[in-house]
Amino acid sequence: MDEKSQSIKQDLEIFYDVPFEVSMRMEYKDPVYCITPQNYLGELFEVKIHFRQKIRMIVEIEPQKYAASMIEEINHPDEERKKLFLAYAEQINRKCSKFEFFVNQNLADISTPGVWEEKWNSFRIRATQIIEDSLDDTDEINLMREWARLFVGLILALLKIEQIGQLGVTEGKMSQVLQNKYERNPVNRELCLSANGFKCKICEFDFENVYGKIGHEFIHVHHIEMVSAHGGEYYLDPVNDMIPVCPNCHAMLHRENPPIKPDKLREIIVNQKGELS
Ligand SMILES: [Zn+2]
Ligand SMILES: [Zn+2]
Repeated sequence: MDEKSQSIKQDLEIFYDVPFEVSMRMEYKDPVYCITPQNYLGELFEVKIHFRQKIRMIVEIEPQKYAASMIEEINHPDEERKKLFLAYAEQINRKCSKFEFFVNQNLADISTPGVWEEKWNSFRIRATQIIEDSLDDTDEINLMREWARLFVGLILALLKIEQIGQLGVTEGKMSQVLQNKYERNPVNRELCLSANGFKCKICEFDFENVYGKIGHEFIHVHHIEMVSAHGGEYYLDPVNDMIPVCPNCHAMLHRENPPIKPDKLREIIVNQKGELS
């Protein structure tokens, strides 16, 4: 893989916690970078960045052959995802010289409600950016990274969290993605904390005791069970599968992958104290 593709790939993986494949090919005399998420989503969409004679960058997104479920989502989006999608589209529109959105092969105005009333069978988005100054390699990479992130975000905005969770390269990576999603989900968090309280279950640190008012109800939540350990279908039980932990203990739990078990970390703390005294 060339250096620029590698750089785009790394950036996207860090940003979205999803594995990507990036490849470059020459079309006439201009490079074209093709970006697809690996596995499941790879069959849903592809983002292409063309550099035309070094003066024009065209970014296109086009659904792939198994995009039916994605288009189904678009035809019945909930308000939250639709808003997020439009916010991304607006951001892209603002940053580029020309923004084109095609629904069923026709140019469409994405900001009008009529677009969403029509049934989508296909869609394509193209943003063109005129590059006035000649770019050095670093500028070129930064520009491509920025656009790749925006276009991938636009599509991920339409998908449900569970679908994004199915993206991992390996079982381990996939579990990690899912695990972090669970920990960040405010609905799970709420239930875990109302049942388990706000004190760290590892070291018993209590933020309100130490910091007073500003520490009130401050704590992280950690998802204990590895998803893969359950095999197949997994339904999270936020009360038993998640625990409140302080950020220090949380960071230590994630020093290993899969994460260290809470009992083991408690034992490490006890042993370490013993060694010091
Ligand atoms: Zn702690
Ligand atoms: Zn955690």
